[in-house]
Amino acid sequence: MSPVPSLWISAFNFLFSAFGMFDTLGPYLRRRAFWIADSFRPPSVRSHLEDLKAQLSAGPQASGVERERLESLLAHATGTTAHYRQYCGCTVLAKFPVLQKRHVSEHRDAFESTTFAGQQLPVMSTSGSTGMPMQFRLSPLKRCRQRAEIIYYSELAGFKLGMRHANVRIIRNKKPLRYWMENQVLFDPSVINDAWLARSRQELKNPAMVLLTGYARPISLIANYCLQNGDEPGMFSLKAVVPTAERLAVDERQTIETVFGCPVFNRYASQEFGVLAQECPSRRLHINTASYFVELLALDNDSQAAPGQVGRVVVTDLFSHAMPLIRYDIGDLATLNPEPCPCGNPTPTLGELQGRLVEMILDARGEIVSPFVLVNNLREVRGITQFRFIQRTTDRYELLLVAVPGFEEEPRVENLLQQYLGEKANIVINRVNDIPPLRSGKRPYVINEYLKEQLRSSSV
Ligand SMILES: [Zn+2]
Repeated sequence: MSPVPSLWISAFNFLFSAFGMFDTLGPYLRRRAFWIADSFRPPSVRSHLEDLKAQLSAGPQASGVERERLESLLAHATGTTAHYRQYCGCTVLAKFPVLQKRHVSEHRDAFESTTFAGQQLPVMSTSGSTGMPMQFRLSPLKRCRQRAEIIYYSELAGFKLGMRHANVRIIRNKKPLRYWMENQVLFDPSVINDAWLARSRQELKNPAMVLLTGYARPISLIANYCLQNGDEPGMFSLKAVVPTAERLAVDERQTIETVFGCPVFNRYASQEFGVLAQECPSRRLHINTASYFVELLALDNDSQAAPGQVGRVVVTDLFSHAMPLIRYDIGDLATLNPEPCPCGNPTPTLGELQGRLVEMILDARGEIVSPFVLVNNLREVRGITQFRFIQRTTDRYELLLVAVPGFEEEPRVENLLQQYLGEKANIVINRVNDIPPLRSGKRPYVINEYLKEQLRSSSV
């Protein structure tokens, strides 16, 4: 027998086992690379991760750290921003006004701290899920804090840095090498169709895939698709599913847990801040008191909501030094659980979180379009301060728009929407002075009147 074939087989076997070894070592090597790089940059993510672990296990109220951080932020804001200068010397949080997103959006310069004047800080933009996209600046320390929060809360869900994970999100300008280094697969839900669902399903069946995070609604659709195709928990290696940004219905959660055979931990996060809260195994949303001071205020005035009563979620970001956000009404409603959580974690928990009512939109052909794709496009149009998108019928849509004086971009906005809704979509844009909240107090940016009517008539 010629020795050549056996050499080839040996070489092939070697390569195969090397790749196999990389599969095992890959997460470890990525993790090591991340922490080595992190050790060279102050402030380090590790220091914030250690802080989160220490504060959230001990309960920050007990140690007084939350109070110290709050007082330090108030002093920084009143000393270095135009908006808060008038409150100089005030150390009582309740005396600061409650902020509405619209006010911050229209007076952004007044919120920027002079400490960071002239510095090139990254400008981030909110998803505009309450109808008002907002731009804001983050300090390097805040960026570190946000990364540490994601690592901390993902670890609670059984994930370790460097492990393979999928993220259902619309992200632009992220380099492929970054995805590879982070071992992350992006499921962009701009258009959800059978091909997208099939690709996502295939990726999730990779034995190395341990975590699925991102927009709740598309995750729920993937789970349904897997269920319809006869998938069972043994076909997946997921340790947890962590939905964000949208509210899962009870049956959606059940389907996800049944199909993938792993727990769901809802995460309450926002672009302006970071991870505000995450569910524990007892299914209660533990507030990240190490980074945020969270208040629940009454629906019709700025007094504290009574225990167990629904209130507006108002957040003070203890690390928002570049653009201090004090008592910021995030646009969600929740209750505060009066009893400690049976899981033993001492941090307070949110009860019923009546998050933003994000709904599906159907294009003129009847295919699902993620509301986030509409929001992301509208966000790029300068001058829009508020909007609400309403689907009226199968192919009739209305966009209520609040914009700065002199705004004349309606034709461009219509074109943008038409791209996603189809040529047959009949889009009406109405300029208004304000878009009031619904009777519930919420300000959804997307309302599907057509689907609501369908549901109403089908339940009669
Ligand atoms: Zn708990």
